[in-house]
Amino acid sequence: MDMKVIPIQLEKPAKSAAWYQTPAGEPRGFIKPHALDELWFHTGTACNLACPFCLEGSKPGDTRLQLLRLADAKPFIDEALTLRVKQFSFTGGEPFIAKDMVKILDYALQFRPCHVLTNATEPLIKRLNQLAPLLRHQNKLHFRVSLDHFEASKHDIGRGAGMFDLALKGLRALHEMGFSVSVANQMLTDSTPEETAQQFKAVFKNAGLPEDLHRVEFPDFHPPGLDVATPQISANCMVTYQTEDSRRAYMCAFSKMVIKQKGKMRVYACTLVDDDADYGLADTLTESMQQAVSMKHHRCYSCFKYGASCSEM
Ligand code: SF4
Repeated sequence: MDMKVIPIQLEKPAKSAAWYQTPAGEPRGFIKPHALDELWFHTGTACNLACPFCLEGSKPGDTRLQLLRLADAKPFIDEALTLRVKQFSFTGGEPFIAKDMVKILDYALQFRPCHVLTNATEPLIKRLNQLAPLLRHQNKLHFRVSLDHFEASKHDIGRGAGMFDLALKGLRALHEMGFSVSVANQMLTDSTPEETAQQFKAVFKNAGLPEDLHRVEFPDFHPPGLDVATPQISANCMVTYQTEDSRRAYMCAFSKMVIKQKGKMRVYACTLVDDDADYGLADTLTESMQQAVSMKHHRCYSCFKYGASCSEM
């Protein structure tokens, strides 16, 4: 019998109407990607901590986004190199919960510098001896540690008793081993920017760290899946209030994030929008680079208003 092979066309999920239009019917603002300078990997939403404000909703045992394996990451690292990526970055959850994390870094560091966001507590501290051999790579491995507040008690409200001291211990250990480090904190409303800077300097000094450690601040991004009311960003806003340079500085203009969900890898527009399937752009990086990114997510307003960015590039 003659069998005809019919090629199967997998249909791309359609975007919601809000991707294209604001509720007032205006054309939505978009960002056109111009490069893949940075590729982020989401290592999974499992975390040893359960901070109520976590933008990923990460907590112990969470599986919304699955743990990244070396076999998942490798094809995207290889493809990103063909697109002239400059850096690989990793966020979670807590990346050191992923069993393959050190192997993934070892592979990626052969090619490019790497940047890891960590809470620097038990999962990282337990694996410090596995990290030491990564110092042999010419490409630099950088760690950014979360310290929500300069006061231990305020940091520990969200993260649990003793977590401030443990994070400082992990941070100091990384610094003493010779890794470059920085700190991420929340935008604080209970002190001025100058007071915040002074207080963090004192914390770093007391911990035996350089006083001028690089620090990045983040607004409240809210837990995933929330419908947060923010001003809508139209196409007109993107030309009236933004410039060519500022548009190129949006993360979705020069980076992408890869996640694993339901056993499948998918390329998302950035690190802040993986709770909305509209932002799942493609299965490959090359295809994802063809897609303009809508400003419909409430977190896009943080980029628009504050220039918020997870990147340190
Ligand atoms: S959150 Fe920011 S970087 Fe991400 S898609 Fe929106 S505007 Fe782009």
